[in-house]
Amino acid sequence: MTYLRAENTTHATELIDANPSFTLLHGGSDLALKIKSDSIKGIIDISHLHELKYIKQNSDTLEIGALTSITTLLHDANIREYLPLLSEACSSFASHQIRNVASLGGNIANDSPVADLIAPLLVLRAEVVLMSRHKKRTIPIHELFQGFKKLNLNRELIGSFTIPLLEHKHYYRKVGARANLNISKVSLAIVHNRDGYFLSGASVNPYVMRFRHSEELLNTQEFSKESLQEALSKDIAPSGSFRSTKEYRSRVLLNMIIEALESFKQ
Ligand SMILES: Cc1cc2nc3c(=O)[nH]c(=O)nc-3n(C[C@H](O)[C@H](O)[C@H](O)COP(=O)(O)OP(=O)(O)OC[C@H]3O[C@@H](n4cnc5c(N)ncnc54)[C@H](O)[C@@H]3O)c2cc1C
Repeated sequence: MTYLRAENTTHATELIDANPSFTLLHGGSDLALKIKSDSIKGIIDISHLHELKYIKQNSDTLEIGALTSITTLLHDANIREYLPLLSEACSSFASHQIRNVASLGGNIANDSPVADLIAPLLVLRAEVVLMSRHKKRTIPIHELFQGFKKLNLNRELIGSFTIPLLEHKHYYRKVGARANLNISKVSLAIVHNRDGYFLSGASVNPYVMRFRHSEELLNTQEFSKESLQEALSKDIAPSGSFRSTKEYRSRVLLNMIIEALESFKQ
């Protein structure tokens, strides 16, 4: 298998352009599991692109380089202060060893239905900067996800995430079989700010998405447990697996939303 090492971001975009069937490698914590599969035609190693490992505070946004590790996110004072939802999601992510190598960009790009950090970025309404050989474009993060393992990337590298700093209340909870090294049975991320409620969660759809019907209900009407349940049933299509039944996932998710809304009243 061909291994190519990108020396800097420009070089990375050139290598991607010239080798569109190759796979990017950062921490390898997802990629290692499929490195021997036939789908991996070659590797472009981006793990030492230090210019994509940063957290920067602007006047009304926080900008996070895509290759920032989960450990760095977890210990960053600005993330803790302004985006506690993201800190909480990082604190229940994998183990210390995995957090040290795993990156935010890798978690988003791997696009797993159980990924922990997609839902927080969706409800925080992050924007993603995508870099290719000839241009840079910025899109709202929800436009990145187009189906199961289908990303809106065209010979591009995820460069960074920009998150608006709005005063908000938040809720995050991940339910799984263990306290550590835990893959979620179901998780929920909610933000409530001046623009309304934003909801998303993992392990309840083929890919992680916003719960638009539930948002619409909460943002426009008086609601009951029944009407919320009905809206939520249009937002999710959980499957049963060895980890959990679909009925369990649906019921726990509804209960968590109600718990979150109660907590926001305090
Ligand atoms: C034991 C174990 C426990 C885990 N626990 C959790 C957990 O609790 N929660 C969770 O969500 N995940 C978990 N994971 C999954 C994994 O750690 C994360 O998804 C991680 O964030 C991936 O980042 P990485 O840098 O290792 O990516 P890599 O494995 O290097 O890459 C992952 C994918 O993303 C692509 N990619 C990487 N960076 C970019 C970029 N900048 N632009 C475009 N594409 C890119 C790669 O080509 C590859 O397809 C676990 C994994 C292991 C092995």
